[in-house]
Amino acid sequence: MQNNINQIAALMANSRSTTVVTGAGISTEAGIPDFRGPEGIYRKLGEDKVMRIINIDTFRQRPELFYEFYREHFKLAEVAPGRAHYVLAELEARNYIHGVVTQNIDGLHQKAGSKNVIPVHGTADRFVCQKYHCGAVYDASTALSSPELVPRCEKCGGVLKPDVVLFGESIQNFMDAQDSILSAQLLIVIGSSLTVYPLAGFVRAFDSFTQDLVILNKGPTSMDHAARVKIDAPGTTGAVLEQIAALLPERGRA
Ligand SMILES: [Zn+2]
Repeated sequence: MQNNINQIAALMANSRSTTVVTGAGISTEAGIPDFRGPEGIYRKLGEDKVMRIINIDTFRQRPELFYEFYREHFKLAEVAPGRAHYVLAELEARNYIHGVVTQNIDGLHQKAGSKNVIPVHGTADRFVCQKYHCGAVYDASTALSSPELVPRCEKCGGVLKPDVVLFGESIQNFMDAQDSILSAQLLIVIGSSLTVYPLAGFVRAFDSFTQDLVILNKGPTSMDHAARVKIDAPGTTGAVLEQIAALLPERGRA
């Protein structure tokens, strides 16, 4: 393990551009259930049901059904970032990390202080008015404190939608995410088994001859064969990143 940590620190010290890709695993350490994990809603309620309700068509046609479900299962506002989120933000400030592409909607990277975050599935802490030409934005606590089941815009009465990518919608920031991953000299994947597209595809297109790949994940991933270093130690991502950060010398701050 120590050897792996030294190796990752050396790769980071030598890299001019490092992109981090994060999935559910980094947030489960902060206390957010992995929707696809054993305690997650996919397993408890069945993937079909979740996909039918957390779906753009259901949202448009039956917003009350959508919100009944959403309010019960997507309580993300009270969760604080974990150690791993804070260390990543610190390493960005120290100019060792240049971008974070995340599949998570919990906003924890931004809360921890990361600046250059590309959330491909959106962020649950923003709500956007759906009425044409309005587009007013609300934070989640304001939107969800509405006494009505379906929150509405104070300006125009339009229905508010959480700014997350629902089933049936395309991902956000596609080009930025692709650029950030494919142009990085070093790619560090944290807490993702790399099975959800299109991110999994970007990482697959990553060129292991000219670029280096590091994976910190519990369990196997689809790209283990291409990784220079793989650490599979559940629940320790924050501690591992802290040790790496401690090994890195000061660089000019971003
Ligand atoms: Zn509005």
